[in-house]
Amino acid sequence: MAILNIRIIGDPVLRTVADPVTDFGPELAKLVADMTETMEDVDGAGLAAPQIGVSKRVFTYRIDGVEGHIINPVLENSDDFQSDQVEGCLSIPGLGFPVRRFRATRVTGFDVNGNPVSVEAEGLLARCFQHENDHLDGILYTDRLEGEDRKAALRSIRNANYDSITEQTTTKRARTVGSSFGGSSFGAGAAGTAG
Ligand code: ZN
Repeated sequence: MAILNIRIIGDPVLRTVADPVTDFGPELAKLVADMTETMEDVDGAGLAAPQIGVSKRVFTYRIDGVEGHIINPVLENSDDFQSDQVEGCLSIPGLGFPVRRFRATRVTGFDVNGNPVSVEAEGLLARCFQHENDHLDGILYTDRLEGEDRKAALRSIRNANYDSITEQTTTKRARTVGSSFGGSSFGAGAAGTAG
């Protein structure tokens, strides 16, 4: 297992719609294991594969002791919303804003062995699923902000020196991604564009 480098906003992989997983082999098992270890290392609530440079539809989650992963997730959201809660994102360090999310969701998909899975979620877990699933469609939570929050977020992102953060992170986690999913072919893009 390995701790992977987390991609920061500005990296094009975060804006790319991820591809479905078709091969449930040892490489996928390694990816899920590495993502889980990385998520634990940074004490994250969730991690989507594009965040470590792999454009595949995979995310891991860890909320209130409930930990897992979903391959090729499909969400069925409730019609109503939960109360807004502040979200952050490992790919947008230092920022947090309240985000509107559906109250509940049911995620269906597959586990690492290709077995179908289905998880019903409310509250924080439902929020996490929606946040991570957005990553697989190239969407960041700041895209979902409106009004003054959106302006403030875009301003912060513009002013942040994410290039130096990326360098620090890279130095701190000087290990190779070593993925044959093609993740290492994505370099750091222009910093500070929130799209
Ligand atoms: Zn995120």
